[in-house]
Formats: sequence, structure tokens, C-alpha cells
Amino acid sequence: MPKKQLSLLFLAIFSVSLYFLLPLFDHTPEHEAELPPVIQEDTVVISKPEPTRLYGMIIDSMVVIEDKVKRNQNISEILTAHNVSHEAIFKLANVSRGVFDVRKIVANRKYTLICQPDSVKTVKAFVYEHNPTEYVVFHLQDTISVEKKQKEIEIIEKGISGIIESNLAMTMSELGLSPQLTNDFVDVFAWQIDFFRLQKGDRFKLIYEDHLVEGQSIGTGRIKSIYFEHFGNGFYAFHYDQGDGIDYFDEDGKSLRKALLKYPLDFTRISSRYSGNRFHPVQKRWKAHRGTDFAAPKGTPIRSVGDGIVLEARYGKYNGNYVKIKHNSTYTTQYLHMSKIKKGIRPGVKVKQEDVIGYVGSTGLARGNHLCYRFWKNGVQIDALKVELPPSAPIADENRIEFEGKRDHMMAQLEAISFQEDDETVLASIK
Ligand SMILES: [Zn+2]
Repeated sequence: MPKKQLSLLFLAIFSVSLYFLLPLFDHTPEHEAELPPVIQEDTVVISKPEPTRLYGMIIDSMVVIEDKVKRNQNISEILTAHNVSHEAIFKLANVSRGVFDVRKIVANRKYTLICQPDSVKTVKAFVYEHNPTEYVVFHLQDTISVEKKQKEIEIIEKGISGIIESNLAMTMSELGLSPQLTNDFVDVFAWQIDFFRLQKGDRFKLIYEDHLVEGQSIGTGRIKSIYFEHFGNGFYAFHYDQGDGIDYFDEDGKSLRKALLKYPLDFTRISSRYSGNRFHPVQKRWKAHRGTDFAAPKGTPIRSVGDGIVLEARYGKYNGNYVKIKHNSTYTTQYLHMSKIKKGIRPGVKVKQEDVIGYVGSTGLARGNHLCYRFWKNGVQIDALKVELPPSAPIADENRIEFEGKRDHMMAQLEAISFQEDDETVLASIK
């Protein structure tokens, strides 16, 4: 566009703005002095285009060379090829110490040379992209210096829905979502939903954070909220931080995590701890003891440490009368040597935390009345007394109003996502 036309256009825009702005000042004569001065036609031309910047440097009129580090190529080789003197490279390697080790430049990473537009294209700066978010600028003009910088990470909220055909992981992967996000999803509902027993047609809506650098996703962030429909029942999860980190709550502000009881009974003492090796009192030999023994009088009630489903409840030659309970896809517990299993406790039965499941005894391979308590996390037997049990505090009174406000916002966001379209919706740019 010729300069004259451009000026006229700006003048036109300016006049129109003035027309709308002036009435605002009509009834406030005391602000008259603050009215913008009438700008002359030629003043408008001042609004030159912003200079083009790359890695924080103005590159207008510069020559920009972009490439990737080749195999076995080092900084010296790259710079020598662009007429940087050995002396300068040596100096550069020296000043880089403590900021960035130039020997850590690796193949396939992007680098950029910003050069003067002279005949030899004198290198002004060399920029190496260390990873998707960090880069190092080596300044070669005037004083040789180096600085490590961060790219701006933009966090956006995305909403998506999915319908399960066979399993969650597959559906998530088909939607292009990362395994990390799938794991987080499973973790959020670990106590509510058995993800190994999903039904075809179970469906979900999910709002999560995506981290972008220069418009490209570099990974997903945390889950903000989920609506999950399992066997026709709806489950909500809303993220909230009560001051001790992000946790997930249902629509009533109850924690989705349920703590397990530390001890399944009132005991007199711990008679044997979990260990890799101990002398077995009955077998008279050294063997691992993958449980915790609680000595207690015969008949002391034994309680399930958490909600769950009974997997086994029977007599075994070594275990005696025992019960095994699966709490969720993460935790399973087992209770041995009972004098008696409580009536009604049999495989498939649902139990609640603190429900009595049996009574202390010494059936099977046991000496003295005690409960041998065993604990599995993700299929691996571990020491129940050393498990960090998940917290389960509900929303505290002082956080209630704020939580409910956020929950309503997230609920509305979830409702706005339809199950029909499988396109991702960008809901908001957070930063
Ligand atoms: Zn034991």
C-alpha cells in the first residue's frame, strides 16, 4: 500500500475512534485537559511495524541461518564453517563454563546463526536449542558472552470426550492423548472405578492442560476435571488445591482418594515385621516374611482396611482361614490365620472400610494367636507399615465457597463438551 493511502487509512480509523470517544468526555468538562491532542496526519505514520525479533534479538536486515547439528559435529566445526575465528571459539568455550557446557551440543538439535548482511556474513550470535523449552545464546559480536534462556510456555485448557470401545488406554490413544494423561486419569478414579472392568459404551469428558511452545504441544499438564459415565452412573472429579498440592474431589467436595486404615485390628504388639528374611518359628528355618504379624487375643475382630471386593475367603494349609480383598487397581490386602471367617464374607462380596471380615486365631502354619497382614501395591508385596497412604480429607470449611465456585465453572465447561464430536476444543488460554 502506498504511504499516502496508508496515512489516509490511519486518519480514517483515528477519526472514527474519536467520534466514539468524544461523547464520553461531553459531561466531564474537568477532564477536558486530558483529551488526547489532535494528531496531525503525518504523526500517524510513526506507527512503524514492530521490529522482528528472534530469540530476543532484532533480526530485521540480518541473515538468519537455521540448521540442525549433524552427527559428531561440535560447536567449533559449526562456527568455523561460518568464518568464526579459532580465537573467538576458544574464548566462547571459556565464557560458557558454568552456563552451558559446549561439549553437550548433540546431534539433531536445532541451531540458528544470526549474521550481519555483509559479504562474509559475520556471525553475530549462535543460538542452540538445548531442549524444546530452553535455548542458549552465544553472542559473538563485540564482547563474547553466553546466556541460557527459556522460551515462553503457553498453557491452554483443552476439553475432549471419548467413548470406550474396549479399554480406556486405547480410547485415549486414539484421541491422540498421552499415556501419562491416561495414567493420571486412572489415578484420579482409582477408588471409584475398576478400569479393568469397563463396559463398552462407558464414556467420559475430560478437561486438561496442554503446554505449548511456539504453538506446538510439548506435553500435557494436569487434569482439571473429568466426567466419567460407568455402567450408566456418572462420576465427577474436580481438581482443587487445599494448600498441600492438587487433589481431586467429587461434586460434594469429598476427596476421591480414600485412605486405608493403618491397622486392621486392635493389637497388643507387632510380633513380627515385614522382612526379606526371618527365622520361621514353626518351620524352624530362615525365610522371607512378607507380612506384618499383629499379636492379639483369639477372637479379636479383624477389619478390612478399606472399601473393596473380596477376592478369596477360604482355608489354606499354610494361611489357615484367610481373606484377600482388592481395594482398587492399586491396592490389595490379605488377612491370615483367622480362627473364623465372618459369615457372609466370600469371593465377590463388597466390603466397606472397617467392616469386620473375621477373627484372630492361629489356623494354618502359625504359632500363637496373631493376624498376619499382607499388602500389595500394583501387584508387588510391600511392607504395609511403610506404605504412604493416600490422603482423603474433604474440602475444608474455609475452602468450601471457593471450591464450589470453581466446581460450578468446571461443571459448566464439562457440560459444554458434547459426546458426539471427537474434536478437541480449546477452552481457555491460561497463560
Ligand atoms: Zn506373618
